[in-house]
Amino acid sequence: MIEQIVEYNQKFVNEKGYEPYLTSKYPDKKLAILTCMDTRLTELLPAALGIKNGDAKIIKNAGGVITHPYGSVVRSLLVAILELGVEEVMVIGHTDCGVQGMNGGKLLEELVERGIKQEHIDVIRHSGVNLEEWLGGFECVQQSVEDTVYALKNHPLMPKDINIQGFIMDSETGALTAV
Ligand code: ZN
Repeated sequence: MIEQIVEYNQKFVNEKGYEPYLTSKYPDKKLAILTCMDTRLTELLPAALGIKNGDAKIIKNAGGVITHPYGSVVRSLLVAILELGVEEVMVIGHTDCGVQGMNGGKLLEELVERGIKQEHIDVIRHSGVNLEEWLGGFECVQQSVEDTVYALKNHPLMPKDINIQGFIMDSETGALTAV
């Protein structure tokens, strides 16, 4: 599949397929969105929000969550705010998220089945990493979005003039519900 994608890319560039997407690095809507990597949202989310190339900084991960207060999500948001002029942040969870109800312990078992040595897992655990929690999901998407918005609003490095709001998107219709 990757080979086909690389081949397509050469054609895309040669035929100047990029021209409708030309824009700057500064988000025109001064907006950042933290959301899930779910493939149903790839085109649906920007389409349902009326967002085009160049409008918003979109940060994605499994579940659209913050796993560490000084991890890559908060860092990316601070870069977006301080360097790129972002003034508002939307945290968008979605219905039927794959991360909902995910069991960290079960994922660890799968890793062992995939050939990861139990002793390596034990070393990581003994160095103070709660692997079950790190790999685990959330129970309720509403709660997850609420917690993420709370964590961002109360983050010691988050400027207080940033408007941060939480939403859940319907993965089929794109409908937003405020949290
Ligand atoms: Zn998801």
